[in-house]
This record gives sequence, structure tokens and C-alpha cells, in this order.
Amino acid sequence: MKKHNFSAGPAILPASVLEEAARGVLNINDSGLSILEISHRSKDFIAIAAQAEQLVRELLNLSDDYAVMFLSGGASTQFFMAPMNLLNEDETACYVNTGSWADKAAKEAKNFGKIETLASSKEQNYTFIPRGWEVPAYAKYLHLTSNNTIYGTQFHWWPDTEVPIVCDMSSDMFSRTIPVEKFGLIYAGAQKNMGPAGTTLVIVRKDLLGKVKRTLPSMLNYTTHIDNDSMYNTPPVYAIYVSMLTMKWIKEQGGLTAIEAHNQAKGDLFYHELDANPLFHGTVTVKEDRSLMNPTFLAINEEVDKAFDAAAKAAGIDGIRGHRSVGGFRASMYNAMPLEGVQVLVDVMKDIAQKMG
Ligand code: PMP
Repeated sequence: MKKHNFSAGPAILPASVLEEAARGVLNINDSGLSILEISHRSKDFIAIAAQAEQLVRELLNLSDDYAVMFLSGGASTQFFMAPMNLLNEDETACYVNTGSWADKAAKEAKNFGKIETLASSKEQNYTFIPRGWEVPAYAKYLHLTSNNTIYGTQFHWWPDTEVPIVCDMSSDMFSRTIPVEKFGLIYAGAQKNMGPAGTTLVIVRKDLLGKVKRTLPSMLNYTTHIDNDSMYNTPPVYAIYVSMLTMKWIKEQGGLTAIEAHNQAKGDLFYHELDANPLFHGTVTVKEDRSLMNPTFLAINEEVDKAFDAAAKAAGIDGIRGHRSVGGFRASMYNAMPLEGVQVLVDVMKDIAQKMG
């Protein structure tokens, strides 16, 4: 039976990417060797890594002012690596608390400088993106989480500020076009929209580096990785390879403009049903803040919850239970989820309403 993978991450990848990735495991570039057993210094892998960087640059239209790295340690390592590299003890960075990942990022940063929380929706269970805050000019950077994977909210606007934005884009990287010049640093764990778990994409404006007074361990210093093309140590070879294939697929789809339109169409289809269906309601209170990547919703009662869960499973739908900390449902619709997959979900919701509404 065909599965419709709505998992929040690690998450759905395009079928053509999985096929090519499987071929690469057996025989990469007709070399007679597996991608898993070649040196990261081999010409085959060096070409893959260079192509991965080139695709990041092309998709985002990145200038040479920015460096691109493929690191390990997950987005969680960037929670502390970014402030460690950008912020001195006596300097201030500003954070906006839009979810538990944003909260964790701020907590880690407190070890390296002064942290000001400009706004927070924590007291309201992160059901919206706070507005009406301003970034003080003295801030070294502003940290945002562009998409809140657990709570189903997403920034659909960017603050008007000259302060460079440091942004955790783990769950909406490459899902839409972005004004790159506003960002000083972007990081994203690959395992949602970019590839498999195991690598984290980091993009940094080079002029922001080299300004901190502390001694940085080599592995935690961005400059080390930039100077060594992300090969100071053995990089996560396979994760970079499959990320490269996924970015190639994004380019073939027409790049980020086309991907954005596709994601908008899926979001429109799903939210239209959510708003019309009497048996479900969204958890996000401000409609403009709803995520196109991770719509979160609840059934009106326990009976509907159980019936929907069973009907979804019977239709081949996988991974729609909400994060363990919040419950309910979450239908993650990353780039590789086709419109037909969302239609299957919507049909199950309609069917339940007809039977139980
Ligand atoms: N930030 C966001 C927005 C996330 O969704 C996640 C993972 N779910 C993380 C950070 C943590 O990422 P990792 O597991 O790669 O450390």
C-alpha cells in the first residue's frame, strides 16, 4: 500500500532522490565502489561536496560575501556555536521566543553573552508569532526560528532592521524564497526539507567572523570549516550526498519560486478543509501565522480523534500525530509531499465529517 509520509522529521524525500541515493550506496558514479566506502578526499566525493555548495548558492542566489558549510552535531549544536562565534561576553544578542527550539537556542546563547528576549508567545502556548517588537541598534544579531516545527507557526514576514538576523531554518529551509541579504547566519538540520539526518547546513556572512575574543576550539570555529571546505575532519559523507541530490531535485522543480507556489497550494488545500470541517480545529490562533510546513490541529473530542487516527492509518497516512509534548495532530507537508498526498488527508477528514459530523 502506498504510504503518505507526513512525518515532522526525519521526513519525506522525493522518490527519485531515494532511488538515486540507493544506487549510490551500491555503485557511485560507476566507480564500482559505494558512496559509503570511499574517502572524503576522493575525487568523487570532492565533486559531490562542491556540487552541494554550488546548489546552495544557486538556489538562494548567494553572493561571495557568504560562506557555506556542511557540519555535524545537528541544529542543536548551532544553538551554541553561533553565539560562540559571533558574540562577546559584554555584547547583546536579541531573541524572539516562538517555540521550544527558539527557547533552547536562547538558553544556550546565555553562556556566551547578554541575551535579551524581545518577545515571546510562551505564556500562550506558542499559538502565534509575537508582533510589535523592535530590534535595538546595539544588538549584535537578532535570532529567529523561521518555522516552529512543534507548534505549527511560521514567520511570513521579516523584521525591518539593519541588525543581521541569525535564523534557525531547520524546518522550512528551501521551502520558499527568502531575502538572503537580511541574514547574517542561517542554519538548518538537513533532516526535514533538505536530506537525511546527519548534516547541518550553515551559511554565514563572512565579515561577521573573527570578531570574538574567546579562544574557539578548532571544531567549533566556523573559520576552520570554511578554510577547509567542510573537510577539516571527516564530514557526514552520505548525508551531504543525499542533500546534494535533494537540492538538485529542487532545482529541477523550478527552484524556490516554484517550490514556494507548490507549498502554498498544499497549504491552501489543507487549511481550507481545516477551516470548513466542524470536527477539527487548528491550534494556531492567528491565521496569518500558520505554518505551510507543519499544520497542527486537534479533533473536537476523543471519539473523533480515535476515528480519524484509524481512518488515516487505513488510507496509508503515516506520521501525523503531534509532537509528544503537545499531542493532537501535525500534518507535515515538506517539499517532497505531493499535492495528491494532501488530497488523501483532506478526503479522510471530509469522510469523517460526513460519518460523524
Ligand atoms: N530547530 C528546529 C526548528 C527543529 O525543528 C529541530 C528539530 N526538530 C531542531 C532545531 C533540533 O535539530 P537537531 O535535532 O538537528 O539538533
